[in-house]
Amino acid sequence: MGYSIAPLERLTEQLERLPGVGRKSAARLAFHLLYMPQAEAKALQDAVADAREKICECPVCCNLTDTSPCAICGDSRRDASVICVVEDPRDVLAIERTREYHGLYHVLHGLISPMDGIGADQLCIKELLARLGDGEVKEVIMEDERVTEVIMATNPTVEGDYTAVYLSRLLKPLHIKVTRLAYGIPVGADLEYADEVTLSRSLEGRSEL
Ligand code: ZN
Repeated sequence: MGYSIAPLERLTEQLERLPGVGRKSAARLAFHLLYMPQAEAKALQDAVADAREKICECPVCCNLTDTSPCAICGDSRRDASVICVVEDPRDVLAIERTREYHGLYHVLHGLISPMDGIGADQLCIKELLARLGDGEVKEVIMEDERVTEVIMATNPTVEGDYTAVYLSRLLKPLHIKVTRLAYGIPVGADLEYADEVTLSRSLEGRSEL
């Protein structure tokens, strides 16, 4: 057993569990935290505790939030007739950055993946169905509050496509328009270097000029 300082070793091990942090980076971060002024270390500790304590899932859209419902669900200026379904809260931030979308969201917190043993019941799918009325008329829904379109904005991967198709089948009996994000050539890219799957999807999703 080599020389080690137990608390430092423990801190390094915890940091190493963070995504993208290897053994060397973890050790560097651990030393950085040790040499930090006490007040800064305390601020970091408080920020972690505060975020863990105050952030929860929105009861409507399942996005992470510190208010209930979240700021998007609670904003009456947003178009409540469209729901954009995403895998992860980070996808909401990405779409919001475009400033192009003004509807609501629904966060699944994962994708269906038979390979990894992740089934539909482990995702926030029943919450989505509850928002769409579950096929039954539970209460009188005002005409202007009715959801008329659900956009599947899951990633163009095997799991993302599978989840989108699965959901679109579930929603079909509800007579709601289900759309999928168009995928294509990245802006500024060269057609010559696009792979054939991207290129064929771009052709399928072409739009009129
Ligand atoms: Zn919400």
